Amino acid sequence: MQTAHTLDVLRKLVASLREDGSGERATIGLVPTMGALHEGHLTLVRRARERCDHVVASIFVNPTQFGEGEDLDAYPRQLEEDAAMLQREGCSLLWAPTVEAMYPQGFVTNISVSKVSEGYCGADRPGHFDGVATVVCKLFNQVQPDMAFFGEKDFQQLAVIRAMARDLDLTLPHVHQIIGVPTVREADGLAMSSRNRYLSSEHRAAAATLPRAMKEAIARIEDGQEVPPTLAALEDELLSAGFDSVDYAALADASSLAPIDTLSGAAARLLVAARIGGTRLIDNMAAG
Ligand code: AMP
Repeated sequence: MQTAHTLDVLRKLVASLREDGSGERATIGLVPTMGALHEGHLTLVRRARERCDHVVASIFVNPTQFGEGEDLDAYPRQLEEDAAMLQREGCSLLWAPTVEAMYPQGFVTNISVSKVSEGYCGADRPGHFDGVATVVCKLFNQVQPDMAFFGEKDFQQLAVIRAMARDLDLTLPHVHQIIGVPTVREADGLAMSSRNRYLSSEHRAAAATLPRAMKEAIARIEDGQEVPPTLAALEDELLSAGFDSVDYAALADASSLAPIDTLSGAAARLLVAARIGGTRLIDNMAAG
């Protein structure tokens, strides 16, 4: 596996991956990450390997998607360890730009996706999805992959990226497909996240209430119980289990992300963000 830290080097290495000697243009799958890799990220790499000749993974802790008072400085950084994991998974190229390479002096552009970015994490983290959309658009242009792989763990993020790619015509000729990969979970159901390492052992044990309570709420809603009181009960259960607060617990249409109060047969998603021991956890599951 080769590593690029600057755009010039990245472009040369991507070009050489494209011409791998077979005479055909080799395909490239992009897996964008912020590092501190776990099985969730590695699953994206494996899906990309199954479908593309080469995998390019990016590691970039993107400052523009962190708000004031968030964990930008504390966010775990472990490039060497991550590189070794990516190499073991058969990744061809690691793109690990510096902040200066990504946002050179004078950078003034912002991509803002409306509608799907509003509400939920968009409401709790102003500017977050602008930062995500802008950096992902840059990654698409830099690598020009055939496919890009994202986790359903960040369900609203996936919706924002799909909307951006559609609206800015990024799906052709650069990224033919954006692939969503189901959330990878720990044995007790907690969605894997680089932020789980912030949790004390007590909070880590209590955090497993989140997926369990979400599953129960979905079962009740599918059983015909009313949505608002079921969501209120879910919030209460999280608070009793030791969560400090619940940013949102909502049932949404799975494609528009508009909040819904009943299951209508269209795909729906339960979306939750809640804080425990100073750490904000998010999760989502299909309903209906
Ligand atoms: P991050 O490094 O947190 O920005 O995540 C990079 C990519 O990995 C995003 O597309 C995430 O949605 C995805 N991802 C993170 N955690 C998981 C997980 N537990 N299962 C599947 N994908 C994940």
